[in-house]
Amino acid sequence: MTLHTKIAGYADPSLHAHGLYIGGQWEKGAGIPVLDPSTGEVLAEVADASVENALRAVDAAETAASQWRQTPPRQRSEILRRWFQLMTDRAEELATLISLENGKALADARGEVAYAAEFFRWYAEEATRIPGEYRHTPSGSHNILVDHEPIGISVLITPWNFPAAMATRKIGPALAAGCTVILKPASETPLTAYAMARLGEEAGVPAGVVNVVTTTNPGPVTNAMLADPRVRKLSFTGSTGVGRILLAEAAKSVVSCSMELGGNAPFVVFDDADLDAALDGAMVAKMRNAGEACTAANRFYVQAGIHDAFVEGLSKRMAGLKIGKGYDADTQCGPMIATKAVQKIDQLVSEAVRRGARATTGGAPLPGSGYFYPPTVLVDVPVDASIAHEEIFGPVAPVYRFESEEEAIRLANDTEYGLAAYVYTRDMKRAMRVGRGIETGMLGINRGLMSDPAAPFGGVKQSGLGREGGVTGILEFMEAKYYAIEL
Ligand code: NAD
Repeated sequence: MTLHTKIAGYADPSLHAHGLYIGGQWEKGAGIPVLDPSTGEVLAEVADASVENALRAVDAAETAASQWRQTPPRQRSEILRRWFQLMTDRAEELATLISLENGKALADARGEVAYAAEFFRWYAEEATRIPGEYRHTPSGSHNILVDHEPIGISVLITPWNFPAAMATRKIGPALAAGCTVILKPASETPLTAYAMARLGEEAGVPAGVVNVVTTTNPGPVTNAMLADPRVRKLSFTGSTGVGRILLAEAAKSVVSCSMELGGNAPFVVFDDADLDAALDGAMVAKMRNAGEACTAANRFYVQAGIHDAFVEGLSKRMAGLKIGKGYDADTQCGPMIATKAVQKIDQLVSEAVRRGARATTGGAPLPGSGYFYPPTVLVDVPVDASIAHEEIFGPVAPVYRFESEEEAIRLANDTEYGLAAYVYTRDMKRAMRVGRGIETGMLGINRGLMSDPAAPFGGVKQSGLGREGGVTGILEFMEAKYYAIEL
């Protein structure tokens, strides 16, 4: 069976388009091989956009813009709602496609499709509730009316780790707000983005409202779009390093930026925690997407009294996970996205081990053609090892011991990041106290999963700017306009 037959067997081939999607037209092309991380084989090839292609996408977004912003919110809402329904109806095909090009286990891919589709349903609802404001001035001189207008053409850049959800988390609010967009997905996982664009067409998204361009040359292609005065918004999800480059580029033309960047989440377990609940939460916080998540627990701080029992339980659970090709039904831990990712994890683990850490399970890459690293637990890790300060982005759980609440907070904050954090304790007062002490955009209390379309997702410090989702997410794609009204 060839790989192309395999894709067709797993997912409806009509979902696939291998060309750029500009102004409602599919433009055939080639140049970007898409690999199956489970085997290293080429799954498909997609078009490699040039700067000229990207600027044509801006033209298409501009042509569609005025009609789309004038489309009644109810109509925009109904298109998003249909898109949600189509994603839900085709969930199994989309999940398989995600699993094929990203490598994540099917169960994770199914979870992602449901989460991704929910952003369209949530923003279908928010499109009809765009807020405004009316006030009296304190001096009584005039009245204040604040309206929100669509910000304009938006460039959306997404990473490979959630190829569906990171796109819908941006497209949903942008379309609900009345903006037209150019999506640039990661070149590792373009098939999901194109498949979703097909469903958008079917849902009735007008030509030019959503454009998709894939490229191996993201710097020049993005810079050209940001330099175009018609582009007014950049919404980026990816690494902090690339985020910094893009913020500097956007500054040149004063483009509004939303930045969802890297994380280094602490997972703090106090002596009084429910051990089984903490272990369940730890497995979710660590192993969703095999650790390739910005919210992934990156550092486990466990209080001395419960430390050994936690390590024993976590090691047992991690060692028991079934490693395999993402799309095999019983797989619980799929491959990493690329060889480079495995090498980075290996370097972090090897350095920690050289400095005195010990692996209770796992600890070295697996041989073979796929990009596999086994679930690993590390103990006795020095708190200044690189693994404590860098995103691991893989199935490795370093566990550190702490004594006091103050120490836990200090250790949790010993990072430039501030995206997500987790705390396990039966004492709610302590949970809230620790929550106030930790510098983070999001905190899970006795819970290993926080992502929800109805909640504001985002970080502090080097983890980013702005929030996606929730009731404020739509405002990232709107500009306030103030009318001073003479009395
Ligand atoms: P990345 O920064 O390498 O790439 C992200 C996107 O940026 C890709 O589409 C890539 O093609 C593009 N890109 C790369 N260089 C560019 C440039 N010079 N100009 C314009 N675009 C460029 O990140 P990644 O490896 O794809 O994803 C992993 C990272 O994303 C991790 O750091 C993770 O924490 C972060 N992430 C954050 C969130 C969040 O919501 N905060 C969610 C998911 C992932």
